[in-house]
Formats: sequence, C-alpha cells, structure tokens
Amino acid sequence: MRNTNTAEAWVKRSLAAVWHPCTQMKQHELFPLVAITHGKGPWLFDANNNAILDAISSWWTNLFGHANVHINQAIHAQLEKIEHVMLAGFTHPPVVELSEKLSALTGGHLGHAFYASDGASAVEIALKMSHHFWRITGQPKKRQFVCLANSYHGETLGALAVTDVAIFRQAYGDLLQTVHTVMSPDLRQALPGETPAELTQRAASDVAQLFAREHANIAAFIIEPLVQCAGQMAMHDATYLQLVRELCDRYSIHLIADEIAVGCGRTGHFFACEQAGIWPDFLTLSKGISGGYLPLSLSLTHEQIYQAFYRDDVRQGFLHSHSYTGNPLACAAALASLEIFSSEQVLEKNIDRALELNRAFAWAKADERIEHFRQQGMILAFDVKNTALHAASLTASFGPQLFQQGLQAGVLVRPIGNTVYVMPPYILSAAETQMMSEKICSAYEKTLDGRKSS
Ligand SMILES: *Cc1c(COP(=O)(O)O)cnc(C)c1O
Repeated sequence: MRNTNTAEAWVKRSLAAVWHPCTQMKQHELFPLVAITHGKGPWLFDANNNAILDAISSWWTNLFGHANVHINQAIHAQLEKIEHVMLAGFTHPPVVELSEKLSALTGGHLGHAFYASDGASAVEIALKMSHHFWRITGQPKKRQFVCLANSYHGETLGALAVTDVAIFRQAYGDLLQTVHTVMSPDLRQALPGETPAELTQRAASDVAQLFAREHANIAAFIIEPLVQCAGQMAMHDATYLQLVRELCDRYSIHLIADEIAVGCGRTGHFFACEQAGIWPDFLTLSKGISGGYLPLSLSLTHEQIYQAFYRDDVRQGFLHSHSYTGNPLACAAALASLEIFSSEQVLEKNIDRALELNRAFAWAKADERIEHFRQQGMILAFDVKNTALHAASLTASFGPQLFQQGLQAGVLVRPIGNTVYVMPPYILSAAETQMMSEKICSAYEKTLDGRKSS
C-alpha cells in the first residue's frame, strides 16, 4: 500500500516539476509516467518493484546492462581521483587513453578525437569543422550540407537542419539553414521488380547528380551508416556507403558518418562503416560510447583535417567548447565498456545473439499483418501493415498503445510510427531473448485486439 503511494507520489511530483523530453505533456493525462527507482542487467524496476525488460537499451544507450559491476567500479575508482577538470589547457589519463583506443579501433585512420557531451553537439562539431576546414583552405563557398530523406542527426539547430523527420522540424523550419536532401537508400522503397542492388544504384545516382551540379558549394554529406534509426529503422546496403565515399572523393566533399546510434557494435562491427570497408572524414559517437552511463560524445577525424587547423593564427584553430568536454567520469565509463568488448569477446558473441534474436521473432516473420521484417546485427525491426491497424488515421496511436501493453507485459518497447523494433543490450541470454520476444508478441496481439473492438 505504502509502495503504491510512493510510485504515485513520484509521478505526481514529476509531472508538476519536470518537463519531459519528446513528450506532449498533456498526454500524460491518459498515459501514466513510469517512475524507475533501480535497474539490474536488462531489467528496470519501477517504484512498485515491477520488472520491465529494457528491449531498447534505454533509448539505444545501454550496452552491458544497468548497474554493470565492471563499469560501476571504474566510475567509483575515477571518482576517487578527479571528477572533472576543464579540457582546454589541461588533460587527464581517461581522455588520453580513450582517444588512443578509439584511434586504434579505426586502424589509425581517425586519430583525432574532439569531445562534447551529447550526440547533437558531436554532429554540430563535425558540421562546423567541415565548414571551417573549407574556409581556411581557400574554398569558403563550400558551406552547404547534404543529408538523406528521413535522416535524424539530433535536435539542436545545426543538427536539426540536417534532420528530415517532420515531427521534429515542423515548428522550427524558419530557424534552420537550407540543406540538400537526397533520396534515402531505404531498401523498403524498392519499386515493383527493382532489386536491392538497383535501388542502391538509383539512390547513389541521386547523389551523383546533386554533386555534379553543386559540388562547388557543398561542404559535407552526412549519413547514419546502414540504419536510419529514428527514421523507422530504415536499413540500406553497405554498397551505398562505398558509392557515396567514391562520390565524396571525386567532388572533394567531406563524408560525415553519424554513428551515434549504429556505432559501438550495434550493427555487428564496432563501427558500421567497417561493414562497407570505408572510413569517413568525420565519425560521431555518443549513446553507447559510455555504456549508457554518462553523457559523452565525440567527433573523430583524420590527420588532413587536423593539420589544416594547426596554424599560428588563433582564429584558425577550432574554437569550439562545452563545459563538460571529455569529462573524466564519462571517459572512465567508456574505457570500462571498451574493456568489456575485448575481455568478453562481445562482437564475436553478438553474432550468435543476433541469430537468437532472429529466431525468437520468427512469429513476426510469419505474421501476414507484418511486412519488411529486417535486421542488422543487434537491431531487429518490422512494420505493422496499415490494414492491420484497422484505420490508417489511427496509426499515430498504435505506438503509445503498444508501449502501454508492453509495460503491462513487463517489456519496454517504443514503436516509431508503425515500426516495432528491438535494440537490446548485449547481455541477453537465449532464454531472455525468447522472453523478450514473447512479451512483445503478447503486447502486440493485445494491441491489435483492442483496436478491433474500439
Ligand atoms: C540520438 C541521435 C543523435 C542525437 O544525440 P543526442 O544525444 O540525443 O543529442 C544524433 N544522431 C543520431 C543518429 C542519433 O540516433
């Protein structure tokens, strides 16, 4: 009884004082907030001690479970030394070691790491550095950016300009710089009879035409390699990245790989670009980089960019900063995560985990109300057909309904439109993967039943 009051009390106080992200607050009149008090492994526990399986890694951040012993210890140990120090004029062991390790993971190709705290800021850094590079190398006209249709790169004004998700952009269009948007290589968009290879070529020729016409004005092309995550987990072929790399080289345009969601092993390799065998000019990381513990982001780049800024003139340096740049606690969490990757052979084991994931969702593959069943490593997604939702105009309500049913079943799943996806931490046993799938299946059936009767 007392516990119930506690949970309700936290929710009430939160609604009064906390303005929650990505939320129309009035909808909480219908959908209650969930007050989480603790977590362990893949499980979140609410204030009434109900367990919820975190199938989406707490917004794609968590890699090795909540309250991971190894990461906890690393943060505790760092806390005893130094919690934070400014990174201008100072350095510290965790940021040095992390930068060296990331450089090594790129085979030395991207050997310079510039830090920030959240993903959108890392994108801003890549955009600003690209523009600034062309300016100080005598090509100031190169200042436009190119993004994919349906892209997502964050919600600060610079990042939002290269984001093509209407719901995030609508209200702010007047504040954003104009960008070029090219066709998405999303494999779901194949025309009747078109093969994946043909669709990939068609998308690349859209880029080729734009570059041929506008290259003198274009600074950079930004892409989420392999999976446009916020864009309904739209997946494309690795060949597209090779084609785009070639075009960028041909026309002297920077390639920015935004690996904030797809990096850190999510698609199979540590970096999604590895699957295409290419390196970008800038690579952004955040979300999983600290294991899902602390805000940390960065933009990696190569020697040529770095050297262009290495001058006597102060104003030609990259004078960008955030107060918590390269925070030692966050870097310690990131180093501990990288240690787990090697000590536990995570990427190797994820090959089997991805297969288990695929097998566990065989029900979705076989369901006629579902289309576009797709997977890229530790991301699995499928779309519920409009006809199964019984009224296309109600598509918007499907996500929140499934989310609610998921909570009842004890699983955190948060569809994007009619796309249901899982993106679990890399620690699930085969039995837990199966349990996750069963909980989602039951929530899905209840959601569709509920819509039929309403
Ligand atoms: C989440 C995300 C961002 C923005 O990161 P924030 O930390 O939310 O600012 C940028 N790009 C991609 C691909 C993302 O998924």
